[in-house]
Amino acid sequence: MRTPIILGNWKMHKTLGEAVEFIDELKTRELPESVEAGICAPFIHLSDLVSGSKETSFGIGAENGHYEDSGAFTGEVSIASLADLGVNYVIIGHSERRQYFAETDEAVNKKILKALEKDVVPVVCVGESLEEREDGSYESLIKSQIEKAFANVTEEEASRVVVAYEPIWAIGTGRSATSKDANDMCKFIRETLHSLYNESVAEAVRIQYGGSVKPENIKEYMAEKDIDGALVGGASLEVDHFVALLEGAK
Ligand code: 13P
Repeated sequence: MRTPIILGNWKMHKTLGEAVEFIDELKTRELPESVEAGICAPFIHLSDLVSGSKETSFGIGAENGHYEDSGAFTGEVSIASLADLGVNYVIIGHSERRQYFAETDEAVNKKILKALEKDVVPVVCVGESLEEREDGSYESLIKSQIEKAFANVTEEEASRVVVAYEPIWAIGTGRSATSKDANDMCKFIRETLHSLYNESVAEAVRIQYGGSVKPENIKEYMAEKDIDGALVGGASLEVDHFVALLEGAK
């Protein structure tokens, strides 16, 4: 059985004070033991959040990271230094990074390999635009994103990767995918992993849905066979909402 995993993606929200306040409040709450939980936050907050979440049941993640360990890359933060800090997760290939920061499938692949090497859980995002959904090319796009993301990832490593299926048209729009449509795509991703590896890898990899997930709809998604959790933007910014998402996923 796969452990459900709910991750918040704060994107470019919260000051350090607000971030620490959130974590301090979350620490006081009783969280369901059966659900893995984590908050992915801006780089500048990570050091405080990692120290603030020691001895808690939730983890801390970054929203990006560079695959080189060090070098002349002004403004970048290496996955190696995130690992050194004690960060548990790193989001890789979010559609906002692919769209606005020209993140390529090749860079996504290098980042996944580096995260696995450094024992940070890679959370790799795939998803189609509205245009690709409507013209029917979405399955071949997702297949290609998955194949390129997992290039040179060994069978043993592959099971440690978390995949997030996030259709771009559902992100921050309030227009969430139906649970059936979301499950169909998560199933398709699992089948793609089966063809790349084998059944045991396909059954082990956790696949999240992301896109306008909130406390009111989390249960519908979690009831689906191939959805193992959610990557949540807006609804992860309030402690009450985040805790409700965890409750809904147990
Ligand atoms: P929303 O939950 O705000 O739609 O964002 C989804 C997302 O992009 C998570 O990575």
